Amino acid sequence: MAKKKSRIGQFIVILIIVGIIGTGAYLLYKDTTAPQAVLSPEKGYITYETPINVNISDVQSGLKAVKIVLTQGKTKETLTEKKFPKGTFDYNEDILIKKKQIKQGNFEIAVWAVDTSLAGFGSGNAVIARGNYTLDTIPPKITVQTSTHNMNQGGCALVLYNVNEEPSHTGVEVGKDFFPGYKQPDGSYACLFAMPYYTKEKDFHPVVVAEDAAKNKRTSTFWYHANGKNYRHDRINISDRFLANKMPQFENEFPGIPSQTELFLKVNRELRVKNRAELHRIGRDTSPTFLFEGKFLRLPNAATKAGFGDKRTYYHNGHEIDHQTHLGIDLASTRNAPVPAANNGRVVLAANDFGIYGNAIIIDHGLGLQTLYSHLSQMNVEPGDMVERGQIIAKTGATGMAGGDHLHYGVICSGIPVNPVEWWDATWIKNNITSKIK
Ligand SMILES: [Zn+2]
Repeated sequence: MAKKKSRIGQFIVILIIVGIIGTGAYLLYKDTTAPQAVLSPEKGYITYETPINVNISDVQSGLKAVKIVLTQGKTKETLTEKKFPKGTFDYNEDILIKKKQIKQGNFEIAVWAVDTSLAGFGSGNAVIARGNYTLDTIPPKITVQTSTHNMNQGGCALVLYNVNEEPSHTGVEVGKDFFPGYKQPDGSYACLFAMPYYTKEKDFHPVVVAEDAAKNKRTSTFWYHANGKNYRHDRINISDRFLANKMPQFENEFPGIPSQTELFLKVNRELRVKNRAELHRIGRDTSPTFLFEGKFLRLPNAATKAGFGDKRTYYHNGHEIDHQTHLGIDLASTRNAPVPAANNGRVVLAANDFGIYGNAIIIDHGLGLQTLYSHLSQMNVEPGDMVERGQIIAKTGATGMAGGDHLHYGVICSGIPVNPVEWWDATWIKNNITSKIK
């Protein structure tokens, strides 16, 4: 009996072993899926600092071997050749091209990987992944063509330059501010940039930058002369009547604020900042060539009520409550006075309730130069309209944060408000802008 029992036991054990081997073999044969090989980036420009990541995986039978080959013309180099121990399911490697390994220009990375499956008469499932790249480690070369750049704090200048390869990003950097350069019909680049109203002489160091598709970046300095400016101080009294009149329209923007003074501060600080960010975005919606001609028009028969750069201190019931900089010129004429377009251009904004500006129009004059007309009571144009210098586009009003009927007129350079006075001066425009353009 005991003998019989152990025979049955042996038989069962053999059955189990055969079963395991069979299942294993079945699984190995059953794995008909090749490993996955992913190159990232899968193509494009590469520098010595750009790693090409190779990721290989085989979730079923596991990886057996991998080979990575670099090819450029007749040059072929094996970068990696590996056999893996059993149970390797993933392989990851970063490839960095070394100096002198290959020449500038096109090359290929080919990845071959095979799994441990017995499919294909025991040779396994194989995959080949290829990536085509361009080695570019040389930054673009910049040649500045214009020699004089005289600037006033809060004002503009134009620089023209050449770049020896097509840049993917180019313009003038002033600290954290960036002014895009635009390609001109003759192939050169033109950039209208500002010495921002908040940048002091000692902190003003503009440079032309150009970056290529591989992200090789070059900066180039150029000659400039900068004049600092001390802005006027102005005192603004915020009356309860003003708050009662003006604040209800902003209640939707900042709901649930119990006091009108607090709501005023929210609008004067947060909405102002939001509007500035929008000006920055709109500043990129621009023509690559100038659309304007001659000097910019000023609202006729109007008195200047506030200047550009005025440092405003706000008082409520004799208490100082806020500080802001006034970044346009306030012009007052008669009530609902007709507003002419300051110069030729394309309407890029005509909106009701443009925050603190109320009903507002922005006209693009090219290269990021735009004019802003705000607190309007009526608007006659729509976004996309081409307008001519002097064409009546609106009527003045007191919408937004305006105490009385006036035009808040602004000039913006790639999103940064600049002093409109320069653009009212035909000689300044000729000397600093138009004489530089061929
Ligand atoms: Zn104003």
